[in-house]
Amino acid sequence: MLTPRNPNTFASYPLDRAGHRRKDEAWLAAALAGERAMVCAFRGDQPLLAEAAHGMEAVWLSTAALAFADPIAPVVFLGLAADGAPHFGFALPDGFDLAESPLGGLGEFADLRGAALALSEDACAILGCAKSLLDWHARNRFCARCGAGSVAAEAGWKRICAACGAEHFPRVDPVVIMLPVRHDRALMGRQARFPKGMYSALAGFVEPGESLEEAVAREVKEEVGLTVSSARYLHAQPWPFPSQLMIGMIATVIEDEAEVLEDEIDAVVWVSREEARAALSGGADTAAGRVFAPPRLAIAHHLLKAWAEEAP
Ligand SMILES: [Zn+2]
Repeated sequence: MLTPRNPNTFASYPLDRAGHRRKDEAWLAAALAGERAMVCAFRGDQPLLAEAAHGMEAVWLSTAALAFADPIAPVVFLGLAADGAPHFGFALPDGFDLAESPLGGLGEFADLRGAALALSEDACAILGCAKSLLDWHARNRFCARCGAGSVAAEAGWKRICAACGAEHFPRVDPVVIMLPVRHDRALMGRQARFPKGMYSALAGFVEPGESLEEAVAREVKEEVGLTVSSARYLHAQPWPFPSQLMIGMIATVIEDEAEVLEDEIDAVVWVSREEARAALSGGADTAAGRVFAPPRLAIAHHLLKAWAEEAP
């Protein structure tokens, strides 16, 4: 599948999602029974990972491991590898004792966010998808329309209410994340909870009835009092904590004076392209003191980088 290059962690899904197979019960059963099936395991929101020469790697188990699956959680179909091997994900019960099980010694459960930079891009994308999907099932066992129990269908890509028949689909929450720019400067903001000196892009949830451009304009106005004259989309990052889509935008603003208007934002700083490049590679000395950018795990890093590397 040809998709445009995307620099973000958790993006660039390497499997063929093979959506047309999700309704094919016979095909799914055969795929699960076949020798090439590979399954990844989660306990709560943590995947089973192992140490590897380059950092960490996902542990891919045979379907024999499904004997330990949480009986109320579905096995989800994640797609097909280039060699045709079907990949699945499943959840172990909350109190599952790894050390005492036959899976002990294969790896450890670890926080995906903390491990992401030690994992391959492919592993991050697959485990991120599996995490969002399994987490959605864990939090949506009852019908949002009538309150009765719902059951998983279509290889984990849908739930159907057993009482009223309503269909529910895995949710993705859109968030705009934007870098306000004017002439040759970009505005970065920091939250009080950030490490000292770290500044990032601005961000907020898209509200019902809003286009992306409207959400960008509203958030920039609310947070720093600036008027957006245009906004362009750059790239997006699936963010599986639990299930957001971070939509990266560059927002052109028409004023030079930003003010901190929301409790969420602690301080703002305008940076030049040169300062942005320095902030990305260790730190920049600016009017606001030493400033550095978020790590490459965050889309804000790649937004700032893309802007800093553009010709002014
Ligand atoms: Zn219902």
